[in-house]
Amino acid sequence: MALIVQKFGGSSVADAKRIQNVASIIAETYRAGNDVVVVVSAQGDTTDDLIAKAYEINKRPAAREMDQLLTAGEQISISLLAMAVEGFGLPVISLLGWQAGFHTNSVYGAARIKNIKTNRLRAEISKHNIVIVAGFQGINRYDDLTTLGRGGSDTSAVAIAAQLHADKCQIFTDVEGVYTADPRKVKNALKLSEITYDEMLELATLGAQVLNNRSVEMAKKYSVKLEVLSSLTKSSGTIVKEKINMEKMLIRGVTKDTDVALISVVGLDDNPGVAFKIFSVLAQKNINVDIILQSVGRDGTKDLTFTVSKDNGVVAIETLGNLSVLENTKITCTTGVAKVSIVGAGMESHPGTASTMFEALYAQNINIKMISTSEIKISVIIDAEEADRAVAAVHNAFLPND
Ligand code: ASP
Ligand code: MG
Repeated sequence: MALIVQKFGGSSVADAKRIQNVASIIAETYRAGNDVVVVVSAQGDTTDDLIAKAYEINKRPAAREMDQLLTAGEQISISLLAMAVEGFGLPVISLLGWQAGFHTNSVYGAARIKNIKTNRLRAEISKHNIVIVAGFQGINRYDDLTTLGRGGSDTSAVAIAAQLHADKCQIFTDVEGVYTADPRKVKNALKLSEITYDEMLELATLGAQVLNNRSVEMAKKYSVKLEVLSSLTKSSGTIVKEKINMEKMLIRGVTKDTDVALISVVGLDDNPGVAFKIFSVLAQKNINVDIILQSVGRDGTKDLTFTVSKDNGVVAIETLGNLSVLENTKITCTTGVAKVSIVGAGMESHPGTASTMFEALYAQNINIKMISTSEIKISVIIDAEEADRAVAAVHNAFLPND
């Protein structure tokens, strides 16, 4: 008998029919003789809708109250799904994050799991109950509810799989697996049968929406083998694991991320310590900086450009505006940009990868504003309006439709 963790995203439980469909997948797994722990997200756009409701009432809602609100989304989906499973005549119980033992730190809206006290989970499993757990949530040491950040229920599922040493962690979504590009936008995108944790981590971080990046990080750390598959079709999905048999593919994916704000500081004194002062105040505000570009100094001044996520743009500008070393500089923030990236472990040993990418962009007359590279990825910042065209062109350059 195996222990299987199954996670279903918001689109998989969007309405009554989809919930029945998910219940039938769970029932089939259970009837095959497995123990089943299920993690679910809020239905459809529930979380977005709740956020919109909050901002209608208060432009700066307290983070604690936001978590108090958002955890309600998953409470709805677990209870409804449990009712559907019950309809199949199977023993089932739904648990909120805290009931399933999820203890987190106190960073509301972006809490980290500290530990999972698994006694309740184990007790229910030993009674052969199907356990349905609310993803994305936990409780802190003040007994207040917390959430793990958008897309956090993937992480909840992987954490349970790691903690209970599950035999399998299946992530069900509305696409059939991990693709070389968004299959809704790029017609000749290919489904990958396997991908490494490292490649998946880059893809998830760079904008592929199929898995949350923290869940991949955790899967790698605890060697949880993931399977990404569709709840709507029966086809096999993508396995995410440490090592794979490299197919002859230089590039494993092309991604787009539009959650980018570009901040420029023009006319900085060309002195030591300036970059330190800028990035240390941003770090104090918990602002994550991505690509950084500094111009060569001339006439005693230099310019610095960097990217942050869109929701950090305003705070970053405010913070830098108060910095005395920046008194005589011009600080601007642009949001009409996107990051397009290619990922693949093969590029490390393959010269010419960057030039192939840049040539594809040039052929489309797309201007590159910034470039950043690591061993297994190349990212460019371009105009947001050109991003879809860029993804298609770059994808076609590496994975031609033949
Ligand atoms: N419902 C939450 C969100 O939309 C968590 C999740 O979907 O994983 O971000
Ligand atoms: Mg969701």
